[in-house]
Amino acid sequence: MCGIAGACGVDDASYVISLMLKAMQHRGQEAAGIVSYDGSSFHELRGKGLVDEVFADVDYAKALPGRTAIGHIRYSTAGDPDSRESIQPLVAQLRQGPTAIVHNGNLTNYAERRSELEEAGAIFRSKSDTELFLHLIARARGNRRERLSAAFDQVEGAYSLLLMTPRGITAAVDPLGFRPLSMLRFGAGWLFASETCAFDLFRDDPRFAGAVSAPVDRGRVISIDDYCATAFTREAAAPSRHCSFEHIYFSRPDSTVFGRSANAVRERLGRALAAAGPADADLVTAVPDSSNAMAAAYADALGLPFRFALIRNHYTGRTFITPRQTARELGVRMKLGAVRDAVAGKRIVVVDDSLVRGTTARKVVALLRDAGATEVHLRIGSPPVIHPCHWGIDTPSRRELAAADGGIENLRLSIGADSLGYLPLESLREALDDADGSAYCVTCFSGESPLVPLGRRPA
Ligand code: SF4
Repeated sequence: MCGIAGACGVDDASYVISLMLKAMQHRGQEAAGIVSYDGSSFHELRGKGLVDEVFADVDYAKALPGRTAIGHIRYSTAGDPDSRESIQPLVAQLRQGPTAIVHNGNLTNYAERRSELEEAGAIFRSKSDTELFLHLIARARGNRRERLSAAFDQVEGAYSLLLMTPRGITAAVDPLGFRPLSMLRFGAGWLFASETCAFDLFRDDPRFAGAVSAPVDRGRVISIDDYCATAFTREAAAPSRHCSFEHIYFSRPDSTVFGRSANAVRERLGRALAAAGPADADLVTAVPDSSNAMAAAYADALGLPFRFALIRNHYTGRTFITPRQTARELGVRMKLGAVRDAVAGKRIVVVDDSLVRGTTARKVVALLRDAGATEVHLRIGSPPVIHPCHWGIDTPSRRELAAADGGIENLRLSIGADSLGYLPLESLREALDDADGSAYCVTCFSGESPLVPLGRRPA
């Protein structure tokens, strides 16, 4: 999971991108980068760290001038997290001119395609699967639509991406639609972002007046050239596979993802969790922040008081997306504290959105007991994660997944909770209005793979 943003035909485009990336900082904290185009040259700035760190003291008008720009915040799932060459946007000089790319998602046939290209003489600069697009586009022939179609036809997996050339920006989403991407008309220009919370920054700007964001649909390829949009669709024979984890955990609650409010979905999950796993307790609390809406809805549904018994330190990163386990362990300790007044002598239900490695769950239960809780009942607003994700989430092996083996009771004992309850898979599907499983990916919960032939045809 990463965050991408694009601005085309917008004054101070790189500054606008920096604000949008900052609004989406929860999607990746390892590195950030922006490339702008000022009508004659590309300008690049990228580095490791948060947006504020990478772009501290940057004079955007001088360092990244122009009315077109794209940007990226990285959460590495493929390639080497320490590699500077993999920090996006990646830029290459193609036969057709300079091209920059930002990409959110994982390509599942990257190794195979890369090896074929290397055998044919291609030289890769990075270990990022994103670079594959540049090689495939460079080799393709025909007009732009034909070249993009030829390149996209050779990759499998998840991609929501933005390509920037001197002509403008092209946005594309894979035919199964794993990762979100939205667009917005902004004055005479256009904005693109992984999440709509990045657009909301500009609501007071008169150029925003009346603008409504829209998702870039799966299979859609939209090019903005000289303020003019053209588009085509690459259709899939398979049902869509929007990532359900985007609603459960990744997206900011004030974002609209896959056309649905992330907050509203989390409230539905909380109510469904209350129906599936009620508990006799004095109060309900959340593992902040992504579980707040779920926990409040859970409490409301059961008529229990909701209290903020765990406090998050907002100056540390999200633990789930910290790439190394040691950093993750420390991250949990840095991130959460228990409010002794609210907890002491109480039977507590603590709601978390998901349980992946179990690092946070163990620490949370210990924190609440240390603060005087007499009982701690853990409720998880999604089903047990039992399979790794191949499309852009860092759950690389079954071995690391706390619920993959050994059963729920063993997991409860290892976490130290008085009871442990999960949301059933059917309830997740119902909360997503996807009872027949035709819209959302749930592979990490079910193990059913959506890897079906991508039989595409241009529209
Ligand atoms: S396997 Fe899970 S995390 Fe990965 S895309 Fe599917 S729902 Fe999302």
